[in-house]
Amino acid sequence: MILLYPDPFLTKVVPQSTAVGCKDISNMFEVMNEHNAIGLAANQIGLSVRVIVVKPWWVFINPVITKSKGTIKLNEQCLSVPGDFEVTRAREIEIECQTSRFKPCKYEFSGIEACIIQHEIDHLNGILINDRT
Ligand SMILES: [Zn+2]
Repeated sequence: MILLYPDPFLTKVVPQSTAVGCKDISNMFEVMNEHNAIGLAANQIGLSVRVIVVKPWWVFINPVITKSKGTIKLNEQCLSVPGDFEVTRAREIEIECQTSRFKPCKYEFSGIEACIIQHEIDHLNGILINDRT
């Protein structure tokens, strides 16, 4: 079940994770696909783990933005906050995170993918799109 604004759980910072159940990750994909979303943060479904999933198959654990460049303005939607919001974000990002097996990794994203990942990392930090406008 998706938590909706103003549920106080959504504005809490999720602590670093040292273990994440496979079941939690598969639940996240299930909810994301069920709602036709392109990304989901664990705390949106009430899980206190620092995990985001992004279509088609990305799983990022403890993601941190380590570099960002440029700006891009897009209309965003969120399963937890009904409506359309115009949000300005970094156009290019580099993130460091762990895989589902806690292997450290580093990725670069740009454009829409970069925006989705920033949106989902915001969730883990208790920030919603209505705070970004
Ligand atoms: Zn969202």
